[in-house]
Amino acid sequence: MEYISTRGLSPAVSAQEAILAGPAPDGGLYLPETIPALDAGELKALGSARYEDAANLILRKYLSEDAFPAPELRKAVSDAYARFDGPEPVFIRAYDDGLSVLELWHGPTCAFKDMALQLFPRLLPLCRKAVPGREDEESWIVTATSGDTGKAALEGFRDQPGIRVFVFYPAGGVSAVQELQMRTQEGNNVCVTAVKGNFDDAQTGVKKLFRDESLAKTLGKENVRLSSANSINWGRLLPQIVYYAYASAKISQNGEPVDFVVPTGNFGNILAGCIARRMGCPVGKLVCASNENRVLTDFFETGVYDRRREFRKTASPSMDILISSNLERLLFLESGGDAERVRDWMERLNAEGYYRIPVEMRKRLSETFGCGSASDRDAFEAIRKAFSEKGMLIDPHTAVGLFVLEKRRSGAGSGRKTVLVSTASPFKFAPDVLFALTGEKEDGFRALDRLSEISALQIPEPLDGLRTRPVRFSGVCEKEGMADVLLAAAARAPMES
Ligand SMILES: *Cc1c(COP(=O)(O)O)cnc(C)c1O
Repeated sequence: MEYISTRGLSPAVSAQEAILAGPAPDGGLYLPETIPALDAGELKALGSARYEDAANLILRKYLSEDAFPAPELRKAVSDAYARFDGPEPVFIRAYDDGLSVLELWHGPTCAFKDMALQLFPRLLPLCRKAVPGREDEESWIVTATSGDTGKAALEGFRDQPGIRVFVFYPAGGVSAVQELQMRTQEGNNVCVTAVKGNFDDAQTGVKKLFRDESLAKTLGKENVRLSSANSINWGRLLPQIVYYAYASAKISQNGEPVDFVVPTGNFGNILAGCIARRMGCPVGKLVCASNENRVLTDFFETGVYDRRREFRKTASPSMDILISSNLERLLFLESGGDAERVRDWMERLNAEGYYRIPVEMRKRLSETFGCGSASDRDAFEAIRKAFSEKGMLIDPHTAVGLFVLEKRRSGAGSGRKTVLVSTASPFKFAPDVLFALTGEKEDGFRALDRLSEISALQIPEPLDGLRTRPVRFSGVCEKEGMADVLLAAAARAPMES
């Protein structure tokens, strides 16, 4: 299968090339030339498949047997999900009659990013092997994080051969638990550094590293290439299609479509649902739930994407985003592959800060997408309601989804079976969840303990275990000093294997 760029100016490439590249050279994002369809037999098989079998079935539709031989692919999938707790990597819990909650956070970092970031690093070596000239090189994954992604990348790439990972986070800009999660990271190929500055400074710094020609030259001598684990990489989107295929097949009765409500930031999670629907899975409406940074909800309501607004810091920080990169893929798909138009919209967004899609296109989108937004106050109310009425503890991101969902149900709901996509463990955001439930203000492990006490739930081991794990990284650098962190690593002995 060939992959093409949403901006139409780069040549088509193989899956392995698309995954190694990240964004396309023309600045667009890779998508398969056609979305493969599942046949009736495969859809039926999904209804009773184990998660790993579902993953192998879906991945095979996109990855060739030549580059990704079945035993290797099977091993990558099985290794990726071995570190999740429970009989299956995802949990489907009944909330009430028509509503199920799909929990995607039972992996090693307690957020849904693990679904992709455990598998993606295990696909990279297969990609390198399949592309001439790339097999012997070392990839250095460099990431700036506001909290969740950095930790998930560290866990996913740790001890992977031929890979090193460097994470930069804003000093004082992440929660105490998130910081501890990163500073205690294990593995012989990881490096964590705090940057004196905010998230934008760290992000801008990383972008500069990728453009730094002298750095590229120095690293090139060591056969090292910089690479990113950003959510616009096709290799991160692909594993996410699996849980929509799996959950819709399990929940649907007689092929009836199932609606999904998705707490959304960069539009990666929900886009995977859209692709599953295009493959023929019984996915009905996809509801995009925004926090107070409601740029996507406004887009679906008005047809105008406008990032010219104030950035809000909310209790659902992983959704605090004003430029939802993966929306570009939806625009490409919904415009029938009109790369010229996509290019025009993206240029406008860049130059003027907004663009507008035609009315017919917005109307068509509203047949398959819903939307809604929630303030922190709304989300806290949903946290209280879920706990007092259903005994279910949810995190602030998932709560944004629940609030939007309840509002839709009280209006003219579809009456269809619905799935709320749950994206993080409530313990990962314990201070806010505790405050929402009781009004108590506790920080760090005190908040985790109190939450465990009132919910009678155990603190997940990856978070509880942080209390005794030694701190391995306490480095801090200036904004201008990020390249030196990489150069210092290059000067040391090559990575021990
Ligand atoms: C990343 C993240 C999201 C947003 O997902 P997107 O793919 O960026 O839309 C929602 N909730 C949590 C907990 C996350 O970590």
